Amino acid sequence: MEILWPYENGEVGEFFYARYGHPAVAEAEAALGELDGGTAVLFPSGTGAATAVALSLLHTGDTIALAAGAYFGTGRLFETLEPWGLRYVEFDQTGPAPDDVQLLWLEAPANPMLTMPDLEAAAAHPAPVVVDSTVATPVGLRPLEHGADYALHSATKALGGHDDVLLGVVVCRDPAAAEALRRFRGLTGISPASEPARLLLRSLGTLEVRVRRQAETAAVIAERLAGHPKVVLVRYPGLGGLISFDVADADAARRVETSTRLVTNATSLGSVRSLMESRHRWEGDRVPGGLLRLSVGLEDADAIWADLAQALDNA
Ligand code: PLP
Repeated sequence: MEILWPYENGEVGEFFYARYGHPAVAEAEAALGELDGGTAVLFPSGTGAATAVALSLLHTGDTIALAAGAYFGTGRLFETLEPWGLRYVEFDQTGPAPDDVQLLWLEAPANPMLTMPDLEAAAAHPAPVVVDSTVATPVGLRPLEHGADYALHSATKALGGHDDVLLGVVVCRDPAAAEALRRFRGLTGISPASEPARLLLRSLGTLEVRVRRQAETAAVIAERLAGHPKVVLVRYPGLGGLISFDVADADAARRVETSTRLVTNATSLGSVRSLMESRHRWEGDRVPGGLLRLSVGLEDADAIWADLAQALDNA
């Protein structure tokens, strides 16, 4: 990776030192901005992106309203920032957010509870609105068109899509907000490397076809899961490839996740291969003990179902 570019006749050019930007990152940002209809700023992970947004927008004493049932790590991040005087409260994102908060943090759909945010109610709130649309992807939802100020993605997931990229992105409605975030990124050093940005560019070429296929397969699998006697509840919001479903309890979930052959028992989501795990191991009583999160990949729908069905039959 190049990290510096010589000055020309003593003049600093567009690229001069990698912490402030490099060509692969700029190219990826142009593509990501187009996908979400805004100005993109790339970060080394989704969590790095969230850290930069929270720290650059908020001040000591401010409170974030976070969607309940959203990605576990986001709440953990905000807890980690508490010594800096930031607070967060959880709320039901299917309705309006509490009044006295300085930032709304929604997730579309929430991972793993798969609720969808009320974007209209959020847009009516005076605080800026961040929508983490990692699960929906820009193929399923463009939050900026619904009044959000920032669309955030863990690009590690479907945008990267191949389990070989760790990146995050914030797409801003206001180009000046993107510029402020970019400045914050350079000054704090939460800067992405060029290799993952190149891998991401490779992946974006197939994003739409991957996500459409995953959503089609997920709809089939969700319906079949709902008809299986060992399945108590299925959550599938009708977009993206993520399903969560409940079996009787944590022991049953453990038996199911360890009995699949095609579906990989691992964390993460949005990959070309199907991934499944019990979320209880990470989130404890925040989720039902028997909740399994299934990220549908590009395998054949019948093959995925045959694998799940044998695991459920034997659970
Ligand atoms: N947002 C959502 C919805 C996620 O699922 C994740 C990771 O699982 C993140 C953000 C954090 O992304 P990263 O692992 O790239 O830091």
